[in-house]
Amino acid sequence: NPKVKVFYYYVAPGNNSKLIISAMQKRKNWQESENYLFHFQWNMNDKNFQYCSLNQSQIQIVNHLPNHRELTLKCNLIRNLKQFCQTNKKYVWDITPLSFIVEFNAQENNLNKVLKEFTLAYEQFQPLSSMKTQFNYFTKHNSQYFLPKMHHSFLDEENNYIWILKPNEFNRGRGIQFFRTIEELKSLLKNFNKGSSEYQFSQGKIKSSSFVIQKYIQRPLLLDGRKFDIRVWVLVTYTFDIFIFNQGYARLSSDMFDLNNLDAFIHLTNNAVQKYSKNYGFFELGNQMSYSELNYYTNGEFTKTVLPKIKSIIVLTWMAVQNTFKKCKYSFEIFGYDFMLDEQLKPWLIEINTNPCLEESSPLLKELIPKMINDAFKIVIDPLFTKINEPTDWEHLLQL
Ligand code: ADP
Ligand code: MG
Ligand code: MG
Ligand code: MG
Repeated sequence: NPKVKVFYYYVAPGNNSKLIISAMQKRKNWQESENYLFHFQWNMNDKNFQYCSLNQSQIQIVNHLPNHRELTLKCNLIRNLKQFCQTNKKYVWDITPLSFIVEFNAQENNLNKVLKEFTLAYEQFQPLSSMKTQFNYFTKHNSQYFLPKMHHSFLDEENNYIWILKPNEFNRGRGIQFFRTIEELKSLLKNFNKGSSEYQFSQGKIKSSSFVIQKYIQRPLLLDGRKFDIRVWVLVTYTFDIFIFNQGYARLSSDMFDLNNLDAFIHLTNNAVQKYSKNYGFFELGNQMSYSELNYYTNGEFTKTVLPKIKSIIVLTWMAVQNTFKKCKYSFEIFGYDFMLDEQLKPWLIEINTNPCLEESSPLLKELIPKMINDAFKIVIDPLFTKINEPTDWEHLLQL
């Protein structure tokens, strides 16, 4: 029928493009593009997208928002959250663990400034053994870093403070280091070569010119004695409608939690790390648990109290950057938020990812990921082209 309009999609290789293609193959009136002309493009790399300058006689939609790096680079996330919270009289280190930004290539190398700032914060901590003394001390000194509210992640740590150093642009746990003292931090930062921006760490070399130093969450909620974090999918459209998928998953570590052993298989819950552990998949398939299993372990608190807090943190991250984002047709993005829970079941935002992993590495993810993608396309693609509107499992949080 020549009157039926055909739409073309282009899916670049990488990050499980087969899954995206099969979601598109299900759609009537859509065909795979044999050249670079497309109505919809899915690409892990967004550097060559021409966002707002597209010829608008034909709708073209792409799977990244133009300014997503304001949230998906670790340093930008911290900077934006800090600024937003300052302006709005909120306490930022209650949302994400206390963090410092180290930028080597900035005009004025800020390493010394950071070290000084960090040393100050660090020293305030050292001599104080009990919660009560810390509480009084920080109240008295009106410290900008340690207000009474932030102690969830510091409870009973007995001066054995652990910090985590993360390269700005990396993922899958790559380049992450732990340290306990300023001396250890300095020696870690010595492994950075300013000329080449290369950072030498125990497992290899990476290129990164900025880092986040973050307080390590030392009293995390454990599941059967093991650490975990939670992956939450968030969909944002070009109209700034923000959705959360009603399912996600916990990513567990393969070995018992132990602060005396800062081994990656114990402390980094990334699937990309854990899949090399000898115990991977021993306790649960793909080291993953569903939300309903999280509810089982928390007596229903996960849905009742944790998820609402997670939703308000997600909303806050978008309020923090809404002014830096231009609304522009046509783009959308699916983000992977990483959250950790501490012993008090308080959620902490760890980071926000572009190109969240779409690997169906367990029966749980085989069920969730295709549904998540297909439902996202029901929101961002179908109404735009084929005027089809179907219900989905994405929950609308707000429009900014
Ligand atoms: P990446 O982009 O490499 O995934 P993340 O910031 O998500 O970087 O850190 C990787 C993993 O390290 C997390 O999934 C979590 O298990 C652990 N982690 C990161 N930051 C902290 C923290 N502040 N406290 C405790 N664990 C953390
Ligand atoms: Mg990441
Ligand atoms: Mg992560
Ligand atoms: Mg972070």
